[in-house]
Amino acid sequence: MLTKSSTELVRQQNSALVLAALRRMGPLSHTDISEQTGLASATVSAITAELERAEVIEKAEQQAHSGRGRPRVLFAQRRNSGFLIAVRISSDVVQYSLVDYSGRLIDRFEDARNSKVAGTRLFADGFLEALDRLISRSRLDKSQVLAVSISSKGTVDADGRRLLWSPVFGGEQIDFASLLQPEWRAKVTVNNETLLVAQALGMKADTGGGGAFRALAALSLGHSIGLGIARKDRFGELEVTAPNFGHMLHAANGCLCRCGSFGCIEASAGFYGILRTAFEVPPDTIPAKFVPLAEIDKIAASARQGNRMAGYAFRQAGLALGNGLSRVLSLYDRMPIFITGQGTRYFELLKGGIDEGLEQSHEVRLQGRPEISVIFDEQRLVFDGHLDRALTDMDHDIAAFRPLPTGGDTT
Ligand SMILES: [Zn+2]
Repeated sequence: MLTKSSTELVRQQNSALVLAALRRMGPLSHTDISEQTGLASATVSAITAELERAEVIEKAEQQAHSGRGRPRVLFAQRRNSGFLIAVRISSDVVQYSLVDYSGRLIDRFEDARNSKVAGTRLFADGFLEALDRLISRSRLDKSQVLAVSISSKGTVDADGRRLLWSPVFGGEQIDFASLLQPEWRAKVTVNNETLLVAQALGMKADTGGGGAFRALAALSLGHSIGLGIARKDRFGELEVTAPNFGHMLHAANGCLCRCGSFGCIEASAGFYGILRTAFEVPPDTIPAKFVPLAEIDKIAASARQGNRMAGYAFRQAGLALGNGLSRVLSLYDRMPIFITGQGTRYFELLKGGIDEGLEQSHEVRLQGRPEISVIFDEQRLVFDGHLDRALTDMDHDIAAFRPLPTGGDTT
């Protein structure tokens, strides 16, 4: 016989299944929910009724396609059940987006980041002010924001609260969770940007792949180099990680990296690495803090016109990437690779080196070259990754903590 607590667990699990189906597929009818979740019709009725009472989902009527017959009743997330703020920190701007529980973008603005003004304190003040501005523009209260999801390039602490090292702040750490407490009740997560890209691509491949999806890697090229890996685990759940690929060793005693080590992949393949090789600057020269895209465009133009050193710089960058990817494939498994980021505009210059770097490994000679695709709209993927992760987390929390105490909602 089931004890009370295991009944409660089953109920939570079933609620999570229903919310996950709506998240994955959009609005669904009672029959669709039953099909998608494998739950019996009566169970679906009980769960949806309960979620409606808790004001988490709502019913809407949809006219039948033929225009005749009874309208279909569809269940969907109730938009103002909770809100998410997604923050994308890049080297020159910080983008703030406000999203409702159904995943719809409500408001967005960008603040320029003055890279000359150092110090995390100043950034933290601007960050808090921007969050206040974002919710007051939509007349929301802090208590209605259930999640703040932050992304940046760099290394994130395992607990997802702190940025340990980033190209933007260096080794200066910001504990975002502490920064927002106690005023905000929102769950704060910090994510590596390329992890979010892999998350978005993985979700898409998994939903559209008819159960065939196993793994993929996302490689982001720019001032810094990021890698995200999305894999299905033993239980069929999507597991996404961001190994410290950019600062993985490429060559012993190699070029000086922005992180202070020698020979990292980024030291050859990041924009400053390409600049250094193209201009034959000694490889131990301290990396430029920021290289304008126009500079790399010039080197690319000269490489396309046949300039030997410029072409060589891109080839060396490609080689570092190809070698690095071959190691990833040796450690994990064969998987398709999606290349994103500003560096994709030079892909045809990097490609030769990437192939050469891949082919040097036993793994690739044995299994063949992995499938490589280029995706230009990285920002969209980062945003989709924010939504996938944060809203799924929200669904889990709602399923686990419901029924919510009444009177907590100030709307
Ligand atoms: Zn490094």
